[in-house]
Amino acid sequence: MCGISGVVGLSNISEALFQGIRNLDYRGYDSCGIAVIKKNNLVVRKNTGGVDEFFHKNDILSVKSTIGIAHTRWATHGSVTHENSHPFMSCDEAFAVVHNGIISNYRLLREDLIGEGHKFYSETDTEVIPHLLEKYYEKYKNVETAFLSTLNSLEGTFAVVLISSYHPSQIFCARRESPLMIGIGDEQKFVGSDFNAFIDYTKNAIIIEDGEYAIISRDSYVVKSFLT
Ligand code: GLU
Repeated sequence: MCGISGVVGLSNISEALFQGIRNLDYRGYDSCGIAVIKKNNLVVRKNTGGVDEFFHKNDILSVKSTIGIAHTRWATHGSVTHENSHPFMSCDEAFAVVHNGIISNYRLLREDLIGEGHKFYSETDTEVIPHLLEKYYEKYKNVETAFLSTLNSLEGTFAVVLISSYHPSQIFCARRESPLMIGIGDEQKFVGSDFNAFIDYTKNAIIIEDGEYAIISRDSYVVKSFLT
């Protein structure tokens, strides 16, 4: 198990991300990380160890952004290291991804992607996801279509959440078996492994069902099926 938290539309999303993954720490974890968008660039910080120490050592609470995702990892593929901590980025640094679950066909996907020129920096199953997104974005020039193609390439279980510099005001997320919820505030939206990720901000929550994905922005959200 691990935890996922995402926020869009608050002026100080760093604080909300911090509360989000800290409120999920009862689920257990060994490392943590965040990705935010600043001036249209993705910024990723991650490390092994505790959430409090991570946020304070890296001065994350002073990072100003209006969109971000955070993760606490419970290692299943690859040891507990900085490199294996989430989020993971695509080679072009246009996608940052956090994931909870196990991608059971990752070896095959990874071999294919390496053959196509993608560079991997971790031992995790998760890292195939940002590279698949990059590959399908190159093909379709559309993040939603790239996300759907990626989801339909994955076998196994996932709650997956991503941000992209192509759509700097939207969070994309989806689930198969691993839990995921959306929190609906008036001027901010949240995503989390469970209700605790955003309980300090809203009590209005929607469960993402198996086989569904959602696109979330400050003022709206849409939930659809990715099953073909
Ligand atoms: N399988 C992924 C990993 O080992 C995600 C583990 C988790 O759910 O935290 O990094």
